[in-house]
Amino acid sequence: MNVLFAVWEIDPFFKMGGLGDVARSLPTAIRAGSPVDIRVVIPYYKVVNVKKKNLKKIASFITHFPFEGSEERVEIFETMHPNGFPVYLIRNQKYLDVVKQMDTWEFFDKAIIEAIEQNAFSFVPDIIHCNDLHAGLIPLLAKVHKLPQKTMLTIHNLAYQGETSIDAFRNVGLDPTLATFRPWEVKLRQVNFLLEAIIHSDVITTVSPTYAKEIFTEQYGAGLNEYLKGKEGRVHGILNGIDETWQDPKLRLPLRYSYGPSSHVNEQTKILPWKEGKRSNKIALQKKLNLTVDGAIPMLAFIGRFSIGQKGLDIMHAMIRRLDLTKYQFVILGSGDKEWEERYRWFSTFYPDSISCNFIFDEKLACQIYAASDFLLIPSRYEPCGLIQMIAMLYGTLPIAHATGGLVDSIQDGVNGFLFTEYSSDALEATVNQAIDMRTHDESSYENMVEQAFQSNFSWEKSAEEYVRLYEEVLKQ
Ligand code: ADP
Repeated sequence: MNVLFAVWEIDPFFKMGGLGDVARSLPTAIRAGSPVDIRVVIPYYKVVNVKKKNLKKIASFITHFPFEGSEERVEIFETMHPNGFPVYLIRNQKYLDVVKQMDTWEFFDKAIIEAIEQNAFSFVPDIIHCNDLHAGLIPLLAKVHKLPQKTMLTIHNLAYQGETSIDAFRNVGLDPTLATFRPWEVKLRQVNFLLEAIIHSDVITTVSPTYAKEIFTEQYGAGLNEYLKGKEGRVHGILNGIDETWQDPKLRLPLRYSYGPSSHVNEQTKILPWKEGKRSNKIALQKKLNLTVDGAIPMLAFIGRFSIGQKGLDIMHAMIRRLDLTKYQFVILGSGDKEWEERYRWFSTFYPDSISCNFIFDEKLACQIYAASDFLLIPSRYEPCGLIQMIAMLYGTLPIAHATGGLVDSIQDGVNGFLFTEYSSDALEATVNQAIDMRTHDESSYENMVEQAFQSNFSWEKSAEEYVRLYEEVLKQ
């Protein structure tokens, strides 16, 4: 069976968030555990991190559709991912060199359909696995072009839907009367890429079982819950995983001090006991970020996009304002909403000894923060899956998270992390106090939890099997 995995980012070629990790790990796990030949296709952005000598041009054609009135050249390149599977890169200077939002995704989707029609990829897929709004027009295009391929949609985040003018349909040669408008948008005539994919794909998955239920509710349905109604049997929740182990050199190299769970302490390989290792990494990070140097002070971290609608920046901000900052240190890494960056910048200006805010994307620093911190805060209002809690546990860092989506499916409250139910700064603060109290006054319970966190298994193996089972099912439809 052949599967083409259409996605807008893949680590290490181009990564903006968790989806880039998934696009690397899931195909790797599927190929390792089954005979499925899964390959990935992404746009060939100018910034794509692939050496030219590793690229082979396999096709070049002029589009059949008059995109915005002009014909365009599409070139297809093939490269090998470091994990050993082919990745196709679609090149067009006007639309794909840099991300121009919906124009880029329209073009990308249509180019994939034409490439399949022309047999331009070096394999023929049986299934097109579409990820998020970026691949949202593919299921409808596949139907209209009468392609034999089945389509699967994976929703990584229902809130990002890709709404744009109906011109998007005209640009790719789709009849505008085929578009589904939400009743209140008839006047605006906004098409919604994710909605099109929900309606036209053969099967839908989301990235955790809890989120698969939540998206049917008004609270989490992001306005699409009404359209999902009746599709319960077609929506499957499969938890994402991570493919690293704590022994992975990628995780350890940026660290001054390697450490691991007690069962793996090894003098020869210089794997330190985690308590000692985390303390040393904490001191190294405090020096690097000009925080007060104190190996004993509890350090809490936040790593993620500054998305106010999702990541719980508001309740975390309200909590930090109330805390006695002589007793804690906070390290924040992330960027996005400028207003909220400004609000957090205020903290690091007034409390430079206790709070460090870094509004950048820096994977090495992320790794150092995971290792140095005692707790990772994940106050997300909603979280389809979340990888940070899994990564944190690899480093023996306990997550403190809002009980939603994939956080519920991966954190066991009081075992390998902490969960709070009500989305409020009070509930977050109470849980932070509970966690720090335990670390200070009940060391053996705390140590036990850290060991449990190290042992948590978030491997992709089981999830990959579930995807393969669904691929098989959809082919029988
Ligand atoms: P989302 O997909 O919503 O962005 P996830 O928790 O699924 O969130 O994944 C986020 C991924 O991106 C993790 O690998 C995390 O370590 C990484 N990450 C997020 N922000 C940054 C940043 N500013 N610098 C480095 N890595 C980051």
